[in-house]
Amino acid sequence: MIQSVKSIPAFDNKQQYATIEADISAAVLEVLASGRYIGGPAVNAFERAFAAYHNLTECIACNSGTDALYLALRAFDIGAGDEVITTPFTFIATSEVVSAVGAKPVFVDVDANTYNLNIQQVAAAITPKTKAIIPVHLFGQPVDMTALMKLAKQHNIKIIEDCAQSTGATWGGEKVGSIGDIGCFSFYPTKNLGGCGDGGAIATNNPEIAARMRVIKNHGQSDQYHYSEIGVNSRLDCIQAVILQIKLRYLDNWNTKRRAIASRYHQFLSKISGIITPQELTGGEGVWNQYTIRILDGKREEVRQKLQEQGVNTMIYYPMPLHLQPIYQDLGYKLGQLPIAEELSKEVTSLPMFPELSEEQQDQVIYAVKEVIN
Ligand SMILES: *Cc1c(COP(=O)(O)O)cnc(C)c1O
Repeated sequence: MIQSVKSIPAFDNKQQYATIEADISAAVLEVLASGRYIGGPAVNAFERAFAAYHNLTECIACNSGTDALYLALRAFDIGAGDEVITTPFTFIATSEVVSAVGAKPVFVDVDANTYNLNIQQVAAAITPKTKAIIPVHLFGQPVDMTALMKLAKQHNIKIIEDCAQSTGATWGGEKVGSIGDIGCFSFYPTKNLGGCGDGGAIATNNPEIAARMRVIKNHGQSDQYHYSEIGVNSRLDCIQAVILQIKLRYLDNWNTKRRAIASRYHQFLSKISGIITPQELTGGEGVWNQYTIRILDGKREEVRQKLQEQGVNTMIYYPMPLHLQPIYQDLGYKLGQLPIAEELSKEVTSLPMFPELSEEQQDQVIYAVKEVIN
């Protein structure tokens, strides 16, 4: 390890915090002094701002992106006997909630260039039991929502968008999360709109479904201390709400910076043999929660090690596709059944990506990748 090399983290949010510290501390102190920490005007105001950002009428804040997905499935009465089609190349939360409501996750393969659901494979997996599809806009790249919505309408299937990594991305000029029936968002600190703790939200234009989700997230309470169904406790607290409302004002600017970094990475790395850089579909504008390349020829570990020696820290999202996880053994998937997802899990490496990554740091990453690969 060369001592003079400056280490670049895969992710950093301290710099970003420094730029908005004054606003955030004032807002947090105001909440603390108010004595109101749960619900009320602060949460309502964030919900309105987040709905408006998506050009939607309804937003329900909740405790996490996982809860958002869970509440969406519950609101559509998806449960035992139902099937939900999704990608095996995602964070566990996407399929975990399907299992949690008693339904069966059906995994189909992904596209090697976008890492997102292969829509033809989705079509082939539809059965009379299919109630919903959960497209994941992985790493901030929008799924081809035109093709997916067409399929959903033909078969009368609900689309629950997992936008945990893609707040602000667009497909056909529309924000992801506003195209399907329900959009589910996470405010986990590493996401594009990240809070200072856990948080999530659901957005929709359907007032009945929204009302149902409000009941379920509040213990199934229909009237005070009267319960119409078994619910959960899932809240966004007031401190997170005021922080997220401030950060929402900067989101587009931060996403623009991520896009500029991605396009620079693309410019200098896309022609190198031995790696494959991610592609953006025409019609989509990604927000690059991650910039994830494929390292070919079984060289991933070696390359990552050498990159680290040059100060470039990388991450692997995700090392094992969900259909091969021990928890899903009973679903009966075999090794080789979803080959693209399996191959990606052996090749993918996410390069440093956050809006404050300086040009100098970007150059260091680009230079290191070029040198290590050659
Ligand atoms: C982060 C994430 C979630 C879950 O969000 P939490 O807020 O951590 O519960 C769901 N799906 C995807 C794709 C994610 O990246």
